[in-house]
Amino acid sequence: MKRLKIKEVLAGGQVGQQVLVKGWVRTKRGSKNVNFIALNDGSTIHNLQIVADVEKFGEELLKEINTSTSLAITGELVESQGSGQAVELNASDIIIYGKADPEKYPIQPKKHSLEFLRENAHLRFRTATFSAVFRIRHAMAFAIHKYFNDKGFYYLHTPIITASDAEGAGQMFRVSTLPAVNPPSTEEGDVDFAQDFFGRPTNLTVSGQLEGELGATALGEIYTFGPTFRAENSNTTRHLAEFWMIEPEMAFYELTDNMDLAEEFLKYLIEYALENCLDDLKFLSNRLQQEEKDKPADQRSMELIEKLQFVRDNDFVRCTYTEAIDILKNSKPYKKGKFQFPVEWGIDLQSEHERYLVEKHFQKPVILINYPKDIKAFYMKQNDDGKTVAAMDVLFPQIGEIIGGSQREENYDKLVARMEEMDIPAEEMWWYLDTRRFGTVPHAGFGLGFERFILFVTGMGNIRDVIAFPRTPKNAEF
Ligand code: ATP
Ligand code: MG
Ligand code: MG
Ligand code: MG
Repeated sequence: MKRLKIKEVLAGGQVGQQVLVKGWVRTKRGSKNVNFIALNDGSTIHNLQIVADVEKFGEELLKEINTSTSLAITGELVESQGSGQAVELNASDIIIYGKADPEKYPIQPKKHSLEFLRENAHLRFRTATFSAVFRIRHAMAFAIHKYFNDKGFYYLHTPIITASDAEGAGQMFRVSTLPAVNPPSTEEGDVDFAQDFFGRPTNLTVSGQLEGELGATALGEIYTFGPTFRAENSNTTRHLAEFWMIEPEMAFYELTDNMDLAEEFLKYLIEYALENCLDDLKFLSNRLQQEEKDKPADQRSMELIEKLQFVRDNDFVRCTYTEAIDILKNSKPYKKGKFQFPVEWGIDLQSEHERYLVEKHFQKPVILINYPKDIKAFYMKQNDDGKTVAAMDVLFPQIGEIIGGSQREENYDKLVARMEEMDIPAEEMWWYLDTRRFGTVPHAGFGLGFERFILFVTGMGNIRDVIAFPRTPKNAEF
């Protein structure tokens, strides 16, 4: 008999139909005559209720079935009495693939804390919460490719290993090899293969943007979607040492086009989640509401699905950095001295400032533009005021910065002058500068932090809980 996924059974199974399902036990409860097994196979948040007759299967066999035991079950679908589903499965045959000793299996069917599950990240996929998060993460990755493909953007694979450190700002991980047993030699002598990339110092990429620009200034519109690495102190709930970034880069785009694209893109993804992940979102929403119950009413956040609909349906606020500084200076928390980092024109905004603007002042997502040039990268287009650049950050509730982007400086002389000011050796960046020397065009792009976006969509609170295997200062094992 062909195996059906539980999602298919619950969506289209008919009473009287014979089916074969396979999966892992979530819970089992029993009475003298009958056992009820909640089976999950990862295809949906919902479990299929299996009814097993004690006399038929025998107490010996049923005793072996515990949380996380893996099973194959054949039987007939019957109308469900009380499982909340249309059908349940009356078992006629049960095969146990693998037992899970309840004395030793760490993830029992009780509500474990997220911290505990993080320590057991190798098994946390088996919980309802994490299976929902990773199904949503998958759907969002798929939607990202779909969005750009439908718009005629090309998916460009930029390198992970790079000798360029122009963007690194001291945050790069060095690539080195294990000590070679027989170091190869060249005619000039031994090469220090043991230390570096074939004798050259290289790093793990912090962003695919610079290479992305090379693609965009020929293919028109490209995007990258890959892992990036930053050796920063990532002991926050918003930073990882390894995270995924989506970086579109577009020729003939100016700052306004860049903002329009970012807003349309984020709304598209949210709409996609609402259309395709509703069961998982409802589950996570309920989970959050449970947690919020203990908070005073005015501190509770909006229900997850309402929050997603709100962002989808409302225009983002667009505001300059200079206006934002004025707002922050005149804001209540500032007067009461509540910001941890004081506000002055020229500072790099901290997430407390960003969240104040979004959550308290505007109460909508915000696109902040025209930042001081001294806190932004060398490649951003210099504005006529001589002080600011055509940067844009998109700020979201609960997260703060979710996107960083800009119109790029397309003028060769201005770009080289800025690099000199910032001590970036232009001769090492000759390949990048060639795009400005030959057929330069106005162009723009941005980087969306994938995990920050997944945090927002799932309502989870810690970035370690939306990536399968988080890389942080304390976590590199699995
Ligand atoms: P932040 O100010 O939060 O440290 P950033 O300005 O250093 O972020 P960018 O270089 O602008 O980050 O990178 C683009 C996007 O990548 C950010 O808007 C954010 O969504 C994401 N991002 C940056 N650093 C991290 C990190 N360490 N972990 C996860 N996501 C990150
Ligand atoms: Mg940073
Ligand atoms: Mg920033
Ligand atoms: Mg940024």
